[in-house]
Amino acid sequence: MNGTGIRLFDAHCHLQDPRILSFAPEVIRKAQEAGIVRFAVNGVSERDWNSVKQMAEQHTSVIPCFGLHPWYVQERSTSWLSSMREFFKAVPYAAVGEIGLDKGSHGRKIEFMEQVEVFIQQLKLAKDLERPASVHCVRAYGDLLEILQSEGPFPAGLILHSYLGSAEMVSAFTKHGAYFSFSGFLTSMKPQKAKKMLKMVPLDRLLLESDAPDGFPCLEGCSSFCAPGEESITQEPTGKLNHPANIPSILSYVAMLLEMPEEELAQASYRNAMRIFSYPGSKFSEEVLPL
Ligand SMILES: [Zn+2]
Repeated sequence: MNGTGIRLFDAHCHLQDPRILSFAPEVIRKAQEAGIVRFAVNGVSERDWNSVKQMAEQHTSVIPCFGLHPWYVQERSTSWLSSMREFFKAVPYAAVGEIGLDKGSHGRKIEFMEQVEVFIQQLKLAKDLERPASVHCVRAYGDLLEILQSEGPFPAGLILHSYLGSAEMVSAFTKHGAYFSFSGFLTSMKPQKAKKMLKMVPLDRLLLESDAPDGFPCLEGCSSFCAPGEESITQEPTGKLNHPANIPSILSYVAMLLEMPEEELAQASYRNAMRIFSYPGSKFSEEVLPL
């Protein structure tokens, strides 16, 4: 807990990423000092699901999520889906993520129909398991909406992570049970446009995340992660590795755009994250939600 007593929940991150995996205990400790007390750690490919599982076993604050990210669709094995089901059996308190669609500069290199097929299979799995799913979407919000219309409803909820869609689409996604999660990537949107979009998001659907080690926020007060006794770890091309301890800066930025007290936004986003991650069988399902 930090000096201000603000408690935050990192709704989407990748602490299992090879760039920071060996420093995870230090990353978590630094985040906890900054008031971030829970972390939804998202796997991205078959290669890292085991690291996610181990991290969740070692840290009570980590909620494991298993998913096949669109960037890694082409390297999946023929048994990826059955392997994923096995992970859900072995770690019954896990959620789904990171899954999604990407027509951005990187995603464009990956056959879109294949992305759609893998995405739908994982949405169906999330529905079967009654778990929330963390969704990545780059330049494919129209496609996403169509798929949610045909595959929904999703009563366990969906997290549109690092949401950068339009203000106009917010209400359509809200009807499909979506939560909107904001990271340092929000600073890539013009402030006026971000403000208009944020004002459309219902306060009970707003989340905050780091997307660490990516998503370094271009905001005052942010630092790149640095392990004890080391110079800061650099990451090309930005040169800066992100960590969840930067979430208070995202909180300040979003609160400023929403013209709302930081504490009120912190409480709302924490409560929302606890709600979506308190599905039956989750690590928190026995906990009483704070009022
Ligand atoms: Zn991510």
